[in-house]
Amino acid sequence: MCGIVGAVALHDISEILLEGINRLEYRGYDSAGLAVVGSRGHIQRIRCVGKVKTLIDAIAKNPISGGTGIAHTRWATHGEPTEQNAHPHISKYIAVVHNGIIENHQSLRSLLIDRGYEFTSETDSEVIAHLTHWEQEQFGGSLLEVVQRVIVQLKGTYGAVVMDSIHPELLVTARSGSPLVIGCGINANFIASDQLALLPVTRHFICLEEGDIATVTHHQVKIFDRDGTIVDRARIKVNMNYDAGDKGGYSHYMKKEIYEQPLAIKRTLEGRFRYGKINFSELDKKANALLSKVEHIQILACGTSYHAGMVARYWFESLSGLSCDVESASEFRYRKSASRKNSLVITLSQSGETADTLAALRLSKKNGYLGSLAICNVMSSSLLRDSDLALITKAGTEICVASTKAFTTQLTMLLMLVASMGRLHDMPIKLEQEIMQALQVLPARIEQMLLMDLDIKNIAKDFIDKQHVLFLGRGEFYPIAMEGSLKLKEISYIHAEAYAAGELKHGPLALIDPDIPVVVMAPKNNLLEKLKSNIEEVRARSGLLYIFSDKDAGFTDTAGMKIIPLPHAEEIIAPILYTVPLQLLAYHVALIKGTDVDQPRNLAKSVTVD
Ligand code: GLU
Repeated sequence: MCGIVGAVALHDISEILLEGINRLEYRGYDSAGLAVVGSRGHIQRIRCVGKVKTLIDAIAKNPISGGTGIAHTRWATHGEPTEQNAHPHISKYIAVVHNGIIENHQSLRSLLIDRGYEFTSETDSEVIAHLTHWEQEQFGGSLLEVVQRVIVQLKGTYGAVVMDSIHPELLVTARSGSPLVIGCGINANFIASDQLALLPVTRHFICLEEGDIATVTHHQVKIFDRDGTIVDRARIKVNMNYDAGDKGGYSHYMKKEIYEQPLAIKRTLEGRFRYGKINFSELDKKANALLSKVEHIQILACGTSYHAGMVARYWFESLSGLSCDVESASEFRYRKSASRKNSLVITLSQSGETADTLAALRLSKKNGYLGSLAICNVMSSSLLRDSDLALITKAGTEICVASTKAFTTQLTMLLMLVASMGRLHDMPIKLEQEIMQALQVLPARIEQMLLMDLDIKNIAKDFIDKQHVLFLGRGEFYPIAMEGSLKLKEISYIHAEAYAAGELKHGPLALIDPDIPVVVMAPKNNLLEKLKSNIEEVRARSGLLYIFSDKDAGFTDTAGMKIIPLPHAEEIIAPILYTVPLQLLAYHVALIKGTDVDQPRNLAKSVTVD
């Protein structure tokens, strides 16, 4: 979380910094700040509570300028979102921005207080500024040497940029657990948490690796690994088109991203069907040799990606016959687990920077898994670099914190993977053909689902004054119910829970009353009759039902039971299709309630802290 931008140039960089953190606002938006070294060699800093726009307005009233500077948009972990806690943090001539958590901040704080430092914030990050100052004053050396001495004293995670107003021609940046890229310009160089921040000024990037420290001046970038050895990291050219201000005529990024799903899925499918088979050209013969040895799948992911993994578990086991477990990466990484024989780890993450998923992947490498495969939406991400195999979804940039198109493209990719791995494990060819046919019509079917927008908008009104909502599903529609409930709580702040419908009688039925809407995913499939019994159990207790179902599933509107008839959905792809009306439901409820749809409270995208 949190967005960091740094810049060194021969000209004023304050505009670049502001534009940069504006583009990174999806990563954190509770407060923001900027510091530059002004013409007299002293640090000028402005910080504000709230979104980057507040900072932009404040700087418009009190302009500051300089050739070297750092900026930050915060997602608070330690200390409330106040001006004092906003970054950059300063210790005399040192200024620091930090993304991550310094776990030993308490002991460092006590040590620094004993040394005479006064803390002005409650953040863990401020220790970095004072420690850097202390090291410089006591032991001297270049800023690089000082930062090298500082980081060995830090426990936890950091992506940090340090500025020294006495030597303003230089920034030093260090990465451990939080992503950082260096943007290479002409007579100017930049640092950011995500290349999106720097697209207006450069297309040339170097991704820092774990443990790297870099010195950045306007004409030179030097990178050192964790042992202090100078290293050469690849410079990549990014041909990405992205305008952060462009909602494409939609009122919110979320709506735009929901509507982009047919195209995003089409792109994810593109080039994958060859010679009547699903084909991953990026997976070579060596990859096939590895995949054909796989006897078990272990999926690790968080949040929405975890739900995609849960759907895939149903698919792997029912379609390809491969056994599959799914676990939250945040749980897996902190427990002792036993790997099954010839087990492949599949990680899922939109950004490829999710700290928990990266840590879980790293742990799995020590636990005797056969190999790892990442499904991710960002080409240059850490997850991809750390995995043996990778498949890139083509969702395009997702800005809204609540994930939509990243989820449906992950499911699309996972279904293709299930089919292609199934082929290596004796799945009937006919089934692969069936999956391919269904996937080919998926974009058009999503278009049809999007035509439900107005109907969903109408039912959304029923939800706005509710305190709780239950979502029910069976089979692979259980994780879809979970995803629907997550979407609703993320952006409308209504408490929502999802249950496997068969679990209702084991407890949650006690909650049913006419004030709790119960949203049921009821496609026409072999579980429909079982689900109908669960629906009756709710009706018998005066529950308020909203049934999302096929037109021909045999439901009719009655008192206490509203039917939302959905367009035709092929059974294999139905979980992907049924996601769309739930996204629209959450969107419309949030819109009517007037919450911040794209940047919901307390959250941020790209969860790079533990
Ligand atoms: N832990 C730091 C803070 O609370 C940085 C959080 C972030 O990554 O935004 O200020």
